[in-house]
Amino acid sequence: MDQQHEDQDVFDANIPEEGPTAPPPGWLEDIAGYQGHKGDADDPVYPPPPAYTPQPQEDRSTAVPDVRVPSVSEDVARDALLRFVQSKWTYSSKPARNLTFKELRPVTVYRYRLETYTETRTSAWHFEPYKGQTVDGPQYGMSPPPWDVPVTLPQRFTDTVEKTRVPHSSFIKLCHKCSGCGRTRCMVCHGRGTKRCTFCHGSGRAHKKRCTSCHGRGRKRCISCHGHGYKTCSVCHGCQNLLHFIQLTVTWKNNVADFIPDRQPDFPDKKFEKVTGDPFFVDESLLVYPIQGFPDQEICDVSRQLINDHLSRFSATCRILQQRQTVELVPLTHAFCSYSGKDFSFFVYGVENKVFTSKYPSACAIL
Ligand SMILES: [Zn+2]
Ligand SMILES: [Zn+2]
Ligand SMILES: [Zn+2]
Repeated sequence: MDQQHEDQDVFDANIPEEGPTAPPPGWLEDIAGYQGHKGDADDPVYPPPPAYTPQPQEDRSTAVPDVRVPSVSEDVARDALLRFVQSKWTYSSKPARNLTFKELRPVTVYRYRLETYTETRTSAWHFEPYKGQTVDGPQYGMSPPPWDVPVTLPQRFTDTVEKTRVPHSSFIKLCHKCSGCGRTRCMVCHGRGTKRCTFCHGSGRAHKKRCTSCHGRGRKRCISCHGHGYKTCSVCHGCQNLLHFIQLTVTWKNNVADFIPDRQPDFPDKKFEKVTGDPFFVDESLLVYPIQGFPDQEICDVSRQLINDHLSRFSATCRILQQRQTVELVPLTHAFCSYSGKDFSFFVYGVENKVFTSKYPSACAIL
């Protein structure tokens, strides 16, 4: 049975060759409000409607209360140093246990943070095999414009992406790859179902005998299509029709900008990124207004600069949903001490009491 099948020419002229995997240009119809991207994969960004171009209100002023500078005790500084030393296997804990403190100098470090929570909307055509599912097409009404498609708002300041079908944008079309046949001609055997035997090069004979690989037939069954000469269409999975729809991608993103004035040249500012501070001032609004009257003028200037920067960067392409500005006091103490007649110093920083030191005594004592 199998051998007979192999000898037959299964070529069926009605089975089409493979078409494109994506719908060709002009394949899909225009949907009002979503024109200009006909089946290609670009993701146009929809600028927010004019009503949502945010305008900061000049009459609001933001003043910040004065704050105390936190400091750590000798016990806390020593504990922090001991924990730090234990995490470095080449460091000896002896100096940390036996050092003498000379001075604990608290340093005032403010961190300014601006968060702008934005929503972006893009769209693209998508399709799936049509298996009789409901088709929400234009007969049910006009598709709402991108910014009118209803979505559920996530929790503020959390990064989320939601994909949703644009209402009434769905329709059915014959599959563009198989032209609605459900299958496509096998490209390996060109629809014949068999391939020339590679062992005897199609002669049916090898070493003056009948070829044992193809049993003398010169051709072998095509492995790719199992001898059928065709394959189930990889785009419609044999369903023949595709359901096309516009998929709207809504992206919520919290855009964060941090700033710490550089007041302590011996301490690398990057270290602050890993620790938390005490947020003594939090101001949240649709749009925040630059901080005024804060004792540190640099914080005021940066606040104005970052707010302007976020406004110009996001208002053209995103809808700004909420802003939040925070001033944190980040603990930083410079500890001066001596150990066996030598002076050294280290920093304790962050609410977590992390330690930074560039010259710990006997750093390589064990080696
Ligand atoms: Zn084949
Ligand atoms: Zn052969
Ligand atoms: Zn198909």
